[in-house]
Amino acid sequence: MPDAAKDRYKKPMYTRRQFVGIATGVGTTLALVAVSAAFGKAGAQRKTYTSQQELVEAKNAISEILSSSDPVKTAAWIVGTGDAPTSVKTEMDQQLDALTQAVAAGTGAKDPASIVVSRTRDAATQRRIWDRKYDFLRRGDGGAGTFGTITEESRGQYGDTLGAGIQWDPDNEAHRIVWSSLTPEQRQIEILQTSTAPGVSQHHSGAAADLFSTEPNDWSNNGPLAAQYTWLSRNAARYGFIQTYTASSAKDQPAVSAEPWHWAYAPVSEAILDFIRADPSTIRGQLENLWNYAPGRYTYIHENWQNYVFHVNERAHFA
Ligand SMILES: [Zn+2]
Repeated sequence: MPDAAKDRYKKPMYTRRQFVGIATGVGTTLALVAVSAAFGKAGAQRKTYTSQQELVEAKNAISEILSSSDPVKTAAWIVGTGDAPTSVKTEMDQQLDALTQAVAAGTGAKDPASIVVSRTRDAATQRRIWDRKYDFLRRGDGGAGTFGTITEESRGQYGDTLGAGIQWDPDNEAHRIVWSSLTPEQRQIEILQTSTAPGVSQHHSGAAADLFSTEPNDWSNNGPLAAQYTWLSRNAARYGFIQTYTASSAKDQPAVSAEPWHWAYAPVSEAILDFIRADPSTIRGQLENLWNYAPGRYTYIHENWQNYVFHVNERAHFA
């Protein structure tokens, strides 16, 4: 850890407010009562944030934990083949619980338990997703239908054949014909619009969660989740969560396209970025181990994985 970061870490930590303070901010007395009752004592350990600087300080505390851990074990956790440090896992779990309780209370949308539709995913699971997409499998063949946004490049090249849909659809004969003509690099670039390769998913660490629905149309301005998105944009930062993939982060190429459903607990996701920046070689070695069963499927991501890791939104929005 650089000296400047150490100095910041030595400064007093952000204020740990009592939950009453948080819930008042959320807006309803009902939320206060319901969430306090659900969390009991554990609620006292949860953190709320009011500024980017507080998130940076919390990130530095996580970095301190990681820097005192075995880097090989930390890397294994990051690439989805090992466990999170216990205290880091506890903090992520508590903050995600706090977020989902507040979302439920703030939007009246859903039972908190059903808000998270996808969270921690190991490297083996991500490899199945990658292979299923790479092989463009139809539903009956173990695929899952539509799977991701078609890039501008492919749209420009094959628009007449692909039709009006915004997503690749392995059940669509014309899409299958186009896909079969793509090079390995083009396939990887298409997949990377919405899925990362095994080892480079933010879901490996448990820091990120997909909320409500991963269907882009649900999140459009007049879509069924427009109100939930407004709530998250205004309030998720209070619990430490930021939208990782935004319209502006997606403007950096190569990058994952905007995902209104994907929110990451910034103190951990940012500490992970710092860990990778400080020593990419440990992570790279573990990624190569994950990919060496079929290196031809990873030619492009092998050269570009850091772009997909680092071209993300790193700023929280505090309303
Ligand atoms: Zn996600």
